[in-house]
Amino acid sequence: MSYSMKWNLESIYPSVNSTELEEALSKWEKQIPELGQTIAAWDPEQDKPDYNKMKLIIDSLNKLQPEISEAGMFINGTLSADVNNGKAKTLLGRISVLYSELSTVTVPFYKKFALVSDEDWQSLLSLPEFKEFAFNLNEDREDAKKLLSEKEEALLSKLAVDGFQGWEQHYDTLVSKIEISVTDKEGQEQLLSAGQAENRMYNDPNPDVRASLFSKWEAVWENQADLFADTLNHLAGFRLTDYKAHGIYDFLEKPLKASRMRKETLDAMWQAISDNKAPFTSYLSRKAALLGKDKLGWQDVEAPVTVGNSEPKSYTFDEGAAFIIENFRNFSEKMADFAKMAFENRWIEAEDRPGKAPGGYCAELPVSKESRIFMTYSNSPGEVATLAHELGHAFHNHVIFDLPYLKQHFAMNVAETASTFAELVVSDATVKSAISNEDKIALLDTKIQNSLAMFLNIHARFIFESNFYREREKGLVSAERLNELMEEAQKEAYQDSLASYHPSFWASKLHFYISGISFYNFPYTFGYLFSLGIYAQALESGSNFEDQYIALLQDTGSMNTEDLAKKHLNVDLTSTDFWVKGINIIKEDIQTFIELTESYIPE
Ligand SMILES: [Zn+2]
Repeated sequence: MSYSMKWNLESIYPSVNSTELEEALSKWEKQIPELGQTIAAWDPEQDKPDYNKMKLIIDSLNKLQPEISEAGMFINGTLSADVNNGKAKTLLGRISVLYSELSTVTVPFYKKFALVSDEDWQSLLSLPEFKEFAFNLNEDREDAKKLLSEKEEALLSKLAVDGFQGWEQHYDTLVSKIEISVTDKEGQEQLLSAGQAENRMYNDPNPDVRASLFSKWEAVWENQADLFADTLNHLAGFRLTDYKAHGIYDFLEKPLKASRMRKETLDAMWQAISDNKAPFTSYLSRKAALLGKDKLGWQDVEAPVTVGNSEPKSYTFDEGAAFIIENFRNFSEKMADFAKMAFENRWIEAEDRPGKAPGGYCAELPVSKESRIFMTYSNSPGEVATLAHELGHAFHNHVIFDLPYLKQHFAMNVAETASTFAELVVSDATVKSAISNEDKIALLDTKIQNSLAMFLNIHARFIFESNFYREREKGLVSAERLNELMEEAQKEAYQDSLASYHPSFWASKLHFYISGISFYNFPYTFGYLFSLGIYAQALESGSNFEDQYIALLQDTGSMNTEDLAKKHLNVDLTSTDFWVKGINIIKEDIQTFIELTESYIPE
């Protein structure tokens, strides 16, 4: 079997230059204002008692939103695979305008929800057409109560195209110019894109290569730190002004709401993590000892550990695919068959080549009811785990595509549940498949690295972003100050256990520049620990697991996180107990790692 490492986007649209796409864009550009007129004419009072007009509007939205979103994913995917595609950039701008116009016409619709009396609202929700959307419609109604006037919302939304989303696009442009020069084995100079350089800096087995790349990496971001600082400051500044205009004075309110979770839950999670860092710092000192160092450098944390005669284990793309499919099958036939289909149908862009955007993601195509995965694959076990992670996202999309569109929007924290679960299945399997202790150590290391990222790296991002927003509320934050804030956050999160830190991490990390959402960090850690809990139950429950798991995933679009956990896992997320149980699973891995590596510490 040989799977293609290039994805198939052509089944969505022939290309960004195609007439099909152009016609679709023009069609939506016409349809949105028409829908706007229908909404403007809608009077809930006159639509009583069967609300037929409201039903028609919802039907139009359920058609229009996924269509535009699918085209957006297609254009964005084209750009990720070819960062210099000018046409895709232009079209992305056009899609932003469409999103903005769609929100301009829908805002008055939701605003009218707020005008319906509580009594009428209850009778509306009891109608068979609306009953199953009660959670989602209530959510929209609550949000609507916070909205400004139609005119103000429309202006805000229009200004955001250039004044907000524009900064995110500017960030992508800056990153696409980043090149890092390295000398290959033959003495030839080679230019690496940001994505390629980052991959090599963290994964190269040679510590000198990592160290040299890391100093070049820091320098290249540092060089343009002012440009990145402007970008970050303006994104956050716009956001804070928008919050204030809506009576929101806590910068965590929106991200928490986006995750449909309570502050008590977030606090309990970080508390459990902060109280349980000792095993992670012991792991870092052990890894340093194995590399013959006192402390690890930033670039060594994720480096492969090789002891004795073991070569770092590698998987070709086909081997990685086979391994993922086989191990998914131990938990769920449906997950395994799904992954196989995704490989066969070329849903994955994995090739390692210049001109690609850094990082990885999974994009949902709600009209085709398919997904696409973007990443750069270079044969490490960590990348097999990443691939499994993205396939987990795709599986979540797959089980939820059967529901009405209104119920498909799961919050970001639970969006990481299926992905992390899939990743755990695969990384656990790589450890169990080890043939020697040397092998087992290397694989265990890869697995622990992942939890380390959740508990230390992402903790640092959360601390940084909280402190940044606190200062940004008072004014612009300079590049130097951003460096300081980042280094302080990293020291706190890693408990001073490293020899060097990555002060310009705030510039190199795309996640800080996403206009659609801030605090693109704690939902990862949440999803990870939430998945550990599910994984533990999966190991216990055996054959019933598949159905239970799919039922949980399908409820993710229409429940609060705390209720979802209570219903499907019978746990209280606001207590540290649940979180500590998850952390304990990882503690065991670290314990095994420390025992196995004892005899490999160099003299
Ligand atoms: Zn993910």
